[in-house]
Amino acid sequence: MDLHRINAYSKLNNKHGVNVLTEKRNVSCLNWGATNNYPLSSIGKKVVCGRCKNSLPKPGEVLELSSDQASKFIRNSRLPILVDFFSPTCAPCQIMHIVVENLAKRRSGEVMTMRINVDQNPQLATQFMVQAVPTFIIFYRGNERDRTSGAMSEEDFAFWVASRT
Ligand SMILES: [Zn+2]
Repeated sequence: MDLHRINAYSKLNNKHGVNVLTEKRNVSCLNWGATNNYPLSSIGKKVVCGRCKNSLPKPGEVLELSSDQASKFIRNSRLPILVDFFSPTCAPCQIMHIVVENLAKRRSGEVMTMRINVDQNPQLATQFMVQAVPTFIIFYRGNERDRTSGAMSEEDFAFWVASRT
């Protein structure tokens, strides 16, 4: 490896020791939910689903989808999905945004994460019987596995998700 490549290589090794040149993460296609292996070296480029050729979501990203896309994704994703039902005017929701973003990065490849604004998507709030914000629901293959409401510590939240995914 020449020096230029070594420099590029060390830049690509992030602080967690993840080698983004070679590592891959599973992501679910937004279209029909197929699991794809997403090479971390391709972040920033267009990566498409091996089955349907639609663009794949980036690993570790908290998805914000239209209500039709969100319902379809909940039904079809082959990976578990954590959904954060929030309102932009709710203070505990703001606190939990960062907690959810951290979790999305930490559990990338294992859990898909999505955020639904209940003020903009009241039909989804009704469909999933969300009566308070923030409410977090874990879905697996279209079925609800568990839910919880209200702010909690990062540690408790990580534990809750880990015990159900
Ligand atoms: Zn696909």
